[in-house]
Formats: sequence, C-alpha cells, structure tokens
Amino acid sequence: MPHLGNETIKAELGRASWKLLHTILARYPEKPTSEEREALSAYIYLFSRVYPCGECAAHFQKLLKQFPPQTSSRVAASQWGCHVHNQVNARLGKDIFDCNDIAEKYKCGCEDGEEPAADEEKDA
Ligand code: FAD
Repeated sequence: MPHLGNETIKAELGRASWKLLHTILARYPEKPTSEEREALSAYIYLFSRVYPCGECAAHFQKLLKQFPPQTSSRVAASQWGCHVHNQVNARLGKDIFDCNDIAEKYKCGCEDGEEPAADEEKDA
C-alpha cells in the first residue's frame, strides 16, 4: 500500500473511515447469525488489508492480532470498535473516547426493518 504523505488527507480519510466502521458496528445485529458474524469479521480483515494509508494499515493489522474482532453481538462489536479506535488514539496521543457513549453517537437514522421510501425504490 502507498505511504500517504499528506497529513490532512490522512486525517480526513481516518475520520471518514472511523465514522463508517463505527456506524456499521452500531447497526450490526444484536443477535447475528453465523453468516453475519463471518461477514463482519471478513469485512474488518479486508478493510485492514486495503486501507489506503499503508502505515495505518500495518498498525491496524497488528492491533487485530492483539484484539481480534468481536462479532457475537452489536454491543460486543461496537465496544470492540471503540476499544481499537482508542488504541489508535493512545498511540497518536489523542483523547480517549468514553465507550459508554458509542450507541448514542453512531445512530445513523437507518433503523432495523425500515422500508425504503417509494421514490428510493424507483431509483434503485
Ligand atoms: P478521529 O480519531 O478520526 O475520530 C473521529 C471522531 O470519532 C472523533 O472526533 C470522536 O468524536 C470520535 N471518536 C474518537 N475516538 C473514538 C472511539 N474510540 N470510538 C468511537 N468514536 C471515537 N493516523 C496516523 O497518523 N497513524 C496511524 O497509524 C493511523 N492508523 C489508523 C488506522 C485506522 C484503521 C484508521 C481508520 C485511521 C488511522 N489513522 C492513523 C487516522 C487517525 O486515527 C485519525 O482518524 C486522524 O488522525 C484524525 O483524527 P481526529 O482527531 O480528527 O479524530
């Protein structure tokens, strides 16, 4: 993977990526099937391989060895995501996030079972 030299781009990419990851974890099923568990685990390992900042990807892969993705439930997965992000925060000298606030922060407005609006279906 290339080395992303520009710190601004790296930070923007990081913010967007964390937002997506935490939002996926906040929407993950409370009682996942084994297929859903495999899908989440595969997604996280593939994400760590294709992440465009090479230095970040390498560190994240080491973190995954130390803290393997927790896929048994929504709470387990989202707390795991918060924990690994805090590991990165600590390494970069950033504030540690309070993981009790995770569900509230990553509400995406896309609740379980929500039907797409009629015009969204037409566009699909
Ligand atoms: P970010 O860390 O991007 O966080 C964005 C927002 O998420 C915060 O403002 C806060 O509201 C919230 N947040 C903070 N902590 C948590 C948490 N624990 N759980 C949930 N929400 C939280 N940058 C490097 O320079 N070197 C690296 O090795 C590196 N590795 C990375 C690995 C990965 C997998 C990712 C996704 C990013 C990595 N980054 C790395 C980028 C870095 O983590 C930050 O995204 C970037 O520095 C911008 O930081 P920020 O202060 O804006 O907040």
